[in-house]
Amino acid sequence: MTTLAETLLSEIESRREELIALLQGFVRTPTANPPGETVAGAAYLETFLKSRDLPYRVIAPQAHMPNLLATFDTQRKGRHLVLNGHIDVFPPGRDEHWRHGGPWSGTIEDARLYGRGTADMKCGTIASFVTYALLHRHRDKLAGRLTLTAVSDEETGGKWGTGYLFKHHRDEVAGDCCLNGEPSSAHTVRYGEKTPHWLVFTIRTRGAHGAYVHMSDSANKIATRLMAALESLTELRSDMPEAVARNLSDAAVRQALDDGLGKGAADLVPKVTLNIGMIEGGLKTNMIPSECKLEADIRLPVGVSKARMRTEVERILQGFPQVSVEEVSRPDDEANWCDPDGEMLHLIQDAAVRVTGIRPVPVITLAATDARFWRLSGVPAYIYGCSPDLMGTYDESVGVEEFLNVVRVHALSAAAYLAQ
Ligand SMILES: [Zn+2]
Repeated sequence: MTTLAETLLSEIESRREELIALLQGFVRTPTANPPGETVAGAAYLETFLKSRDLPYRVIAPQAHMPNLLATFDTQRKGRHLVLNGHIDVFPPGRDEHWRHGGPWSGTIEDARLYGRGTADMKCGTIASFVTYALLHRHRDKLAGRLTLTAVSDEETGGKWGTGYLFKHHRDEVAGDCCLNGEPSSAHTVRYGEKTPHWLVFTIRTRGAHGAYVHMSDSANKIATRLMAALESLTELRSDMPEAVARNLSDAAVRQALDDGLGKGAADLVPKVTLNIGMIEGGLKTNMIPSECKLEADIRLPVGVSKARMRTEVERILQGFPQVSVEEVSRPDDEANWCDPDGEMLHLIQDAAVRVTGIRPVPVITLAATDARFWRLSGVPAYIYGCSPDLMGTYDESVGVEEFLNVVRVHALSAAAYLAQ
């Protein structure tokens, strides 16, 4: 007897060209954010659903940034799996730097499909749509419920995208587990991530003529002392949950992090990092600056809460009465994780071994994704997608076979999760 997994794999194989064309068409529909105008991208995905008679709703709290929500129930008791992908992509930069026909070409050369957003994350979003359509067709062999969410506004924080869906349609989108196709590489599954904690420090002094240094402190000189003091934040020790600590000490996990994110990445995952991204102070060489702004990009690991970081920053600022601080990242976010040994993780690993021969290891990653909305609500969320190497570059692309493998792994692991 043919298993559902075999059926899904053979259906994907027989639709190979159609699936590649589907991704190509999506890449050829510009959805850069900023500006974040994604109506055409959403319409493209709606056509996919309409032509297959799959009902859906458009939820657009901002008319130019629509989100799509589709769901089907198998009528058999079971769990609720949610697929999540984003429609918007990074801006393309300068057209002349693109070597493969421009940022929205969708050109295939040497078995790679080129264009802005191919990796982050049109490959993964199409994998979600194909998985949804395939499983809908075979829903008589499944139990529980499958929901598909495609959102705008991911690249600018998610307030009008996944954040909005969680705030206003939580019962429909939280589910019991989330599967997301953001880039991860074939070697890893992402089960957690650090969180950005962005602070703008403003230093104000009286100011004076540059020769009258007895009249005023210099805001710029205070900024250099403040920068040195802020370095102590990187020494904070994380209260790492045991499951995460165990995962991070695994040699295979450390190797996968260094291979995937560059040598040294494994050491940074459990640490607070500090980047002073911008300094702006002073008006003229011969004036003592009365104002300096310093923008810090702090990244919190799992086990260091925003509340604790705020306390630490306040403590440092006690020595700097001239300084005020404002957080410009989302104050509600926290570094987040789900079970590095969870059921869906194993289903993804088994599917990946079957499809690619590689067993991906569970990792925590450095950058933030919409998966955090699920994890911070207590729902496990796992990311499996293409290689992140070229995302955001002028050569952004995805291997054609790599894309099809992401589709295969998503379809198989989603079907296994909803198996009767
Ligand atoms: Zn992304």
